[in-house]
Amino acid sequence: MTMFDPIAQTISDQHLNLACSVQLTVRRLDQIHPNISGNKFFKLKYNFVEAQRLGFKKILTFGGAYSNHIAATAYAAQLFGFKSIGIIRGEELASKTYNPTLMLAQKMGMDFKFVSRENYKLKQDPEFNQQLQVEYPDTYIIPEGGTNALAIQGCQEILKPQDGTQYDVICCAVGTGGTIAGIIERSAPEQHILGFSALKGDFLKQEIQQWTQRTNWSLTDAYCCGGYAKTTPELLRFIHHFEQEYQLPLEHIYTGKMFYGIFDLISKGYFVENSRILLIHTGGLQGRLTI
Ligand SMILES: *Cc1c(COP(=O)(O)O)cnc(C)c1O
Repeated sequence: MTMFDPIAQTISDQHLNLACSVQLTVRRLDQIHPNISGNKFFKLKYNFVEAQRLGFKKILTFGGAYSNHIAATAYAAQLFGFKSIGIIRGEELASKTYNPTLMLAQKMGMDFKFVSRENYKLKQDPEFNQQLQVEYPDTYIIPEGGTNALAIQGCQEILKPQDGTQYDVICCAVGTGGTIAGIIERSAPEQHILGFSALKGDFLKQEIQQWTQRTNWSLTDAYCCGGYAKTTPELLRFIHHFEQEYQLPLEHIYTGKMFYGIFDLISKGYFVENSRILLIHTGGLQGRLTI
């Protein structure tokens, strides 16, 4: 049960000095590991423990070509002695030069199966999963983005026991909602958890509600810049300026949008004076190379 813990102990918090009335602290999950980065480490932790307990030798999961989850799974599988298989969205990618994420995953020994966008949509379909079980027998399957009950159990450990009294607001970037669900579950009732969606739309609210009954949270897609992996010149300018000012690396898919949103909300007076805000830096910096 302790296989990942030595890495987790290295997490540190960084304080940002701002000329305003709120206190910002960044939890640097990006520093856990260069490749099993940030929140993906917490999402995978108990899945790998479970796969090991059940005696599986292979891990299979799903993702797009730029998925941090694919890279993290490939790396963790290699580190802990599993074979890994990635079901990748986009048939056309099979014949192209791999991007840095896929190249890294391949280097870690991951086998790819490229599927059409149409087939990829079936990833939660029982029949499609049965086919995969036949094609890859004795395989532990982790869903897209790594979000399942064990992932949410792992993400609860992003918070430390003392956080309940030290912070009023906790902010987190949201993709599938698994990470924020774990944080919500572990939060104190008087804390507010604020999610910054990396993609457009209201459906994520329901996704999160599947995993938690708590109501001390909210979600905004106001800073998604048009959708998943989309950017605006303003966002890129913000990231560049922020990195120079605070010596803290961001990427443009998740963490960049969250910091962009928080700074905008601060400037609009959204937070109560003297709010103590904890920002979860969820990592993903391997994707930064592809900007
Ligand atoms: C995957 C990812 C997220 C989103 O996590 P979910 O649990 O899918 O919401 C946030 N930040 C980074 C850097 C990620 O790689």
